[in-house]
Amino acid sequence: MKTLGYAAHSADTPLVPFHFDRREPRPKDVVIEILYSGVCHSDLHTVRNDWGGTIYPAVVGHEIVGRVIGLGSEAKQYKLGDHVAVGCLVDSCQECDQCHKHQEQFCRNGRTDTFNSPDRVDGSNNYGGYSRHIVVREEFVLRVPEALDLARAAPILCAGITTYSPLKRWKVGPGSRVGVIGIGGLGHMAVKLALAMGATVTAISRDTAKGADGTALGAQKVLVSADAEAMAAAAMSFDLIIDTVPVRHDLNPYIPLLDVDGMLVIVGQLGLVDEPNTAPMVLYRTGVVGSLIGGIAETQEVLDFCAQHNVLPECEMIRMDQINEAYERLEKGDVRYRFVIDMASLDA
Ligand SMILES: [Zn+2]
Ligand SMILES: [Zn+2]
Repeated sequence: MKTLGYAAHSADTPLVPFHFDRREPRPKDVVIEILYSGVCHSDLHTVRNDWGGTIYPAVVGHEIVGRVIGLGSEAKQYKLGDHVAVGCLVDSCQECDQCHKHQEQFCRNGRTDTFNSPDRVDGSNNYGGYSRHIVVREEFVLRVPEALDLARAAPILCAGITTYSPLKRWKVGPGSRVGVIGIGGLGHMAVKLALAMGATVTAISRDTAKGADGTALGAQKVLVSADAEAMAAAAMSFDLIIDTVPVRHDLNPYIPLLDVDGMLVIVGQLGLVDEPNTAPMVLYRTGVVGSLIGGIAETQEVLDFCAQHNVLPECEMIRMDQINEAYERLEKGDVRYRFVIDMASLDA
């Protein structure tokens, strides 16, 4: 099946239109016409080969919302015209203990990512959501609830699940005291989701302006990390802190903010952080842990949760041909809070 997308051909050239073929549907496949595609920081990291291992041409994008336009002979879960979504995963072994626990992201035999990952059947490099079509096995296709605004749903597929999963795992609910460090693509979803779960939410930010953004999103409090007095006053006042900062940083100002048994969850930075002082962890049984997206069932759960609680990402809609400019702005943190590509713009 012929299709059109936008691809990077090297780490230092802009994305350009790219004609390629999607596979013919296998028996359990769903053929999707993509309507919207969110722009995640991982897209940019992959395009620039920041993590190594990028295979070019690279078609990225793993916040995909679309419509079913074709089905394999044995695909039963969806019908033509259904509104569906695809997130960060498109396959896994389906047989290991982690897959059986609906944690396909931790598949023992290696999860299959939506882009820059080999197809489990033919070994070809996967192309993601910056394209007109995608073909995905039905077990990895999500249903978009009717109540959800299609144009704003895409960021739930990565930014949403990445923050929802730790909020659920650490049982956030009414009365929970949640801090969110960094109010960007992930952080703004963490604020909205924690509020919808009934938590008291504090936006933690280096500067007052970004903190005020947190308040605009509904956070009850703002904590400016540069304000030493305010940080001292906030000691031991959080049950859970979601740290969305995507670069190397110092955790030591934040760990003392945790109350007994509190946890700081890293969802942004993949790699080194500055050397943490274990004293507050040992003295109050607090911890630092990481978290990676979520499984397929939990991704469906967050879509349903957002529909039920009217949680919608803040999106800036762009045309496909604005992607390179969007990346430049993303690097400067100049987006409130997620770019979403209107894929209809590919036809223009
Ligand atoms: Zn992502
Ligand atoms: Zn598995």
